[in-house]
Amino acid sequence: MPEGDTVYKTAQLQNAALAGAVLTGFDLRVPRFATADLTGETVHEVISRGKHLLHRIGDFTLHTHLKMEGAWRTYAPGEKWRRPAFQARAVLTTADVVSVGFELGTTELLRREDEDAAVGHLGPDLLGPDWDAALAVSRLAAHPDDAIYVAALDQRNLAGVGNVYANELCFLRGVLPTRPVAEVELAPFVDLAERMLQANKDRWVRSTTGDLRPGQTSWVYGRRGRPCRRCGTRLLGGELGREQQERTVTWCPNCQS
Ligand SMILES: [Zn+2]
Repeated sequence: MPEGDTVYKTAQLQNAALAGAVLTGFDLRVPRFATADLTGETVHEVISRGKHLLHRIGDFTLHTHLKMEGAWRTYAPGEKWRRPAFQARAVLTTADVVSVGFELGTTELLRREDEDAAVGHLGPDLLGPDWDAALAVSRLAAHPDDAIYVAALDQRNLAGVGNVYANELCFLRGVLPTRPVAEVELAPFVDLAERMLQANKDRWVRSTTGDLRPGQTSWVYGRRGRPCRRCGTRLLGGELGREQQERTVTWCPNCQS
């Protein structure tokens, strides 16, 4: 599952490649929109909202979500794609670039005025122009019995935290992933979430430790069974999340309580 910073960077690259250009080709390879055609329309901008991407084209918005394996890639006209064509869900062509959305979890075309149907449920966006820390705190606080890890991943509370950041936030705030929201100091938790995503939004190597070397970029994420970087205790792991949405969590039984 991509983190909000990955989606933010994808939107920046898509915007740089497409904004202001007229589409010479438009192909959505999903049954519901297979006949939609925005050829001749102008791409106004590409933005992210949490982990959702919005390509604003003509009077429409192409709404996509990367889900687990999705990615947008740009190629020069005629250049060979580096992922198989059968994975393509959206192909946007201009005079200068071919932009392909591969293995997208969501691909739908909306009228611009209907964007809220796709992203209106999201809490404040950690990397968005509407970021509002106080609102994020109050959304979290409205679910006092939820595990903090689960609440942090719930995009209705705040938008942009994925599994890496949820694990790392719990470690750095010294709270077990299962600690109820009511027992967590929410303002510093939310503040740290914003600083983490801001620190990573313009670089491709994600690091919550400040160390960009391979194997050194996280405190606990992906390190189950290995020694805590702070205290040396063996890190524990498990599964946590709402039904059908369980994710792998890792924590230090000594540093987190
Ligand atoms: Zn520790």
